[in-house]
Amino acid sequence: MPVRKRYNCSLLEHNTMSIDAKAKEFISYDTVEELIAILCEIRDKGQRILHIGRGSNLLFTQDFDGAVLHSGIKFIEYVSRSNQEIIVRAGAGVVWDDFCAQMAQKNYYGCENLSYIPGEVGASAVQNIGAYGVEVESIIQEVETIEIATGTRRVFKVEECEYGYRDSIFKNRLQGQYIVTAVVYRLSTAAVVNLEYGQLKELRSQDAVPSAQEIREAVIAIRKSKLPEPSELGNAGSFFKNPVVPVEVFNELAAVYSELPHYVLNDKQVKIPAAWLIDKCGWKGKCHGGAAVYEKQPLIIVNRNKATAADIKELATLIQQSVYDKFRINIYPEVNYI
Ligand SMILES: Cc1cc2nc3c(=O)[nH]c(=O)nc-3n(C[C@H](O)[C@H](O)[C@H](O)COP(=O)(O)OP(=O)(O)OC[C@H]3O[C@@H](n4cnc5c(N)ncnc54)[C@H](O)[C@@H]3O)c2cc1C
Repeated sequence: MPVRKRYNCSLLEHNTMSIDAKAKEFISYDTVEELIAILCEIRDKGQRILHIGRGSNLLFTQDFDGAVLHSGIKFIEYVSRSNQEIIVRAGAGVVWDDFCAQMAQKNYYGCENLSYIPGEVGASAVQNIGAYGVEVESIIQEVETIEIATGTRRVFKVEECEYGYRDSIFKNRLQGQYIVTAVVYRLSTAAVVNLEYGQLKELRSQDAVPSAQEIREAVIAIRKSKLPEPSELGNAGSFFKNPVVPVEVFNELAAVYSELPHYVLNDKQVKIPAAWLIDKCGWKGKCHGGAAVYEKQPLIIVNRNKATAADIKELATLIQQSVYDKFRINIYPEVNYI
């Protein structure tokens, strides 16, 4: 299909928070060559650019006065196989969970714990998506990109991507400078599993190591029982990142709250679940305008009743303030404000 352009386009169908913002221009493309041509045209017009995937981690706070780009580069290609590894390359526009489904069906291990995370392959490498003890950086080999300013190709080795917790060079130091066109993953044909997290531990009691498909199905069942489906209730997943605090701060808090859940990162830092902090401040189920804190998981802000971006932003700020007032800990949005 050729490049598709729409003007004054509603973004309602392009963000899972269901915010009805508009983009001056919305452009979809299917090949790297088309993308390079589009970038050249946009540069000539001096327009702002925002590249999106499924919009499952975005909050449009206002109309976007520029061009919103979306990739239709969809392929999954098996590059090579050696010993117990398989190298798979996927186009940025592939739906992330379609990729996970195909890998699990072939019993390739590595992304089964990341099943059912909304979004596309391109964003997986930008966001360093993570769930159930696994982050996507552990299976990324390379990220193929186009530089927006020049239209030239650049391949980032995983070591160059500066991955951290829900963080990467593309979200941080080089934010808005590169568009991901494909990602090369390294998966395992041997059973390398991570069943340390919560209910997944139950799979450890089986006699045989579970297949990638079995783990995928367990992950999907857990996620469906806990998280709201964006098609039924607008949301962007975890609204806040889990704060990482110095061990001294953690010790002071643990002296007051003996039940404080935590995860020791190293001898200096401890990660605390933001959901616990928010819950302790009494936010579960609370509404602000059309926005609300999800009653089953306080880390999620939902669009309960035609919420505006202002409702959501204000609610997020109120939550941040109350967590700070009670615990003296800052929590920051994981969701990208646009
Ligand atoms: C119900 C629900 C559950 C979720 N659970 C999880 C979870 O368990 N773990 C987790 O990590 N996340 C989770 N998320 C968040 C979200 O799914 C991820 O952040 C996902 O990677 C976003 O993908 P997307 O395609 O929708 O990207 P978007 O939200 O459209 O974009 C996210 C960012 O990536 C950039 N981007 C997108 N595509 C490209 C590209 N091709 N090139 C360059 N930049 C690009 C955008 O500019 C933006 O900065 C959840 C979200 C929801 C709604």
